[in-house]
Amino acid sequence: MSKRLIAAALTTVMVALATSACGGGSGSDSNASVVDKAKNDKKLVIGVKADQPGLGLRTPDGSFKGLDIDVATYVAKALGVDPKNITFKETVSANREAFLEQGQVDMVVATYSITDERKQKVSFAGPYFVAGQDLLVRADDKSITGPDSLNGKKLCSVAGSTSAQKIKDSYAKQVQLQEERSYSACVDRVLGGQLDAITTDNAILAGYASQHPGKLRLVGKTFSTENYGIGLKKDDKKGRDAINDALKKMFDSGGWKAAVESSLGSSGFKVPETPRLDRY
Ligand code: GLU
Repeated sequence: MSKRLIAAALTTVMVALATSACGGGSGSDSNASVVDKAKNDKKLVIGVKADQPGLGLRTPDGSFKGLDIDVATYVAKALGVDPKNITFKETVSANREAFLEQGQVDMVVATYSITDERKQKVSFAGPYFVAGQDLLVRADDKSITGPDSLNGKKLCSVAGSTSAQKIKDSYAKQVQLQEERSYSACVDRVLGGQLDAITTDNAILAGYASQHPGKLRLVGKTFSTENYGIGLKKDDKKGRDAINDALKKMFDSGGWKAAVESSLGSSGFKVPETPRLDRY
């Protein structure tokens, strides 16, 4: 082989090595951090809820609004992605881990509680909000006053949620649990009188109560702590760190408080303290 050919062959090998070492160089690389994906593709697919007023709601014109949308938009911008290049994709409680694992979404901002069990499959930045499990009942039903008055009641919650799990773990003997695909399905069943109460996070329930004034009442006795995180692919430490930095900026600049006020204020939700980020 001539020296020229050897040199050419060596160059080819080196280029190939350099390209593969880049890792996050291509948006199609499923192991790339969300940071690299955002930087290279300038677009992101973000999983959100579509039926939770104040948090993640699809409006009649097809756009999305709520605190989760504001947080997602802020974070995407910090990663270099313009709001118009975000695709919001509807998720329900039960498919959030799978959507991240399969790469159907780049991140999930969907009232998604950080739990050790979920951390086996995905990772979390945040928390960006702290809620608590509560109960929503028909306004004229005075028999349910808190989690201790659920004897014999028919409860509705959503499959794959921490809320349904809590009922199975702690209240299985007292109550009958019906699991739906989404909380709005639960609302219909309680308004229709087939079921007695919906249980999930107070922030979600407050949104439904304000959608149906005089018909639904938030009980107001929380019985869990739900730290809302931004779900990412497992082991995307670079993504977690960058998103936590972005959240810190959102907290410190007053942007977070304004977003909480504008999204949840109308449902009577008082703006809580900014959460403490859990950097792991
Ligand atoms: N935050 C709880 C969870 O992540 C309940 C709300 C929901 O299902 O999105 O499971």
